[in-house]
Amino acid sequence: MQVKKSDRIALVGAGLVGSLLAIFMARRGFKIDMYERRPDMRKEAISAGRSINLAISTRGINALARLGIDDEVLSQAVPMRGRMMHSPQGELTFQPYGMNDKQCINSISRATLNKALMTHAEKDGHAQIFFNQRITGANFDTGEIFIEDHRSGQTRSEKYDRIIGTDGSASAIRNEMLKLPDYSCTESLLEYGYKELVVLPNADGSFKLERNALHIWPRGNFMLIALPNFEGSFTCTLFLPFKGAVSFEQLTDDAAVLAFFSKYFADAVPHIESLCETFSSNPTGHMVTVKTFPWNVGGHALLMGDAAHGIVPFYGQGMNCGFEDCTIFDQLLEEMEKANSELDWQLLFDRLGKMRKENTDAIADMAVENFVEMRDKVADARFLLEKAVEKVLQKYFPGRYLSRYALVTFSNIPYKVALDVGEVDNEILAELCDGLSDPEKVDLQLAEKLIDKKLAPLLVPYTGQLSLAASH
Ligand SMILES: Cc1cc2nc3c(=O)[nH]c(=O)nc-3n(C[C@H](O)[C@H](O)[C@H](O)COP(=O)(O)OP(=O)(O)OC[C@H]3O[C@@H](n4cnc5c(N)ncnc54)[C@H](O)[C@@H]3O)c2cc1C
Repeated sequence: MQVKKSDRIALVGAGLVGSLLAIFMARRGFKIDMYERRPDMRKEAISAGRSINLAISTRGINALARLGIDDEVLSQAVPMRGRMMHSPQGELTFQPYGMNDKQCINSISRATLNKALMTHAEKDGHAQIFFNQRITGANFDTGEIFIEDHRSGQTRSEKYDRIIGTDGSASAIRNEMLKLPDYSCTESLLEYGYKELVVLPNADGSFKLERNALHIWPRGNFMLIALPNFEGSFTCTLFLPFKGAVSFEQLTDDAAVLAFFSKYFADAVPHIESLCETFSSNPTGHMVTVKTFPWNVGGHALLMGDAAHGIVPFYGQGMNCGFEDCTIFDQLLEEMEKANSELDWQLLFDRLGKMRKENTDAIADMAVENFVEMRDKVADARFLLEKAVEKVLQKYFPGRYLSRYALVTFSNIPYKVALDVGEVDNEILAELCDGLSDPEKVDLQLAEKLIDKKLAPLLVPYTGQLSLAASH
């Protein structure tokens, strides 16, 4: 096969997805120029941007494993084996995510991960990152990108054969594509903001809250969560409406902030470091769902990661989904290499967009839905009964009954299938839970009938890929 490795390729954005993609492409022998508007975070202390830490799960780990760097990355992550619910009275309830210790999600520092990926990308000299370089636009006919040096303010242009936009949810490359006919995009801003706070470790370095859990304080239409950091601290995130009776617009001074936290998150207050100061100095973040199509301009330009599909963070899948884009991109490249033909960039870009679009739309919708589950339903008796019955079904029908959460988080099967399965799961659980109070007394015969009739047709095509999602 004659893949044209001499092509000049520009990657715009050296965030999580851009840096990972650069490693994949460098390993296949392509030469990559990466443009990043921020300074080099390995040399200068800068904020890693939104969310100090994030949860990496099977889809993200698989991408790292394909490159052989999963163990290195996970050695700096904290496994979270379930949700630790904090009631308004401070009672704790642990809800495991999976059926065993393998089914966990892993909290990792965004900066640690990004730095490691950048270093791997640059390692063999195939990829080079130019920092403080903001891309202001592109011309897909000529292959030019327009670059502004952040420090000097000087502008210039460079020509490339391929331009790949991994420049996040406010992508400059996507904005350029949207000037073309037949390109469309919707950006739905959530009416909620988020604010990050911190719980420091104890003096001896130990964790102040249970280490191996994602902590949640669900309070109806808002919530606080906390994810552990490797060195003993927790990053807390408050998700709250921007406007309304209980909202960011009400929290205008220290007294209001303290009263709000004391009322709703009393058990967290003693642990949060400099609550009022941090609350006023940290920015309030926005969350947006971005759906766009097409993702490419012929074989000239392509979007990946948040640039192609920004999703809200409530399934912990934004990065995982972007990493899965990279896995599939690499699989398609490999197929083309094996076919021993000239690399057809347009075919590659077209196929990637077509394969991913319905799946990235599906995870975007599930992420919005999961917000309601996290902030509200996790404290609801009927929801807890259905979750308990779900655990029974997973135990008695391994590989035959699978929860949406397990499919999204612990498998690689397409997100769209997980979405469809989740809808059928809900129907089955609703039928089984009617009139039931003890989950152990669920009618297993009826359950089996419903599973065979309704779920089997959706899951059978993926039998070989369900082992981790089903394992217990
Ligand atoms: C609060 C919060 C919590 C989250 N938690 C999770 C989680 O637990 N698990 C998970 O999987 N996902 C999570 N996400 C989603 C995750 O952060 C994103 O999906 C992920 O960062 C996307 O990576 P990316 O590389 O596509 O974009 P980004 O991380 O946004 O990176 C884009 C890069 O491009 C650079 N850039 C932007 N514009 C330009 C330009 N014009 N020129 C040059 N460079 C440019 C930026 O500086 C940045 O480095 C969370 C998101 C938020 C907001």
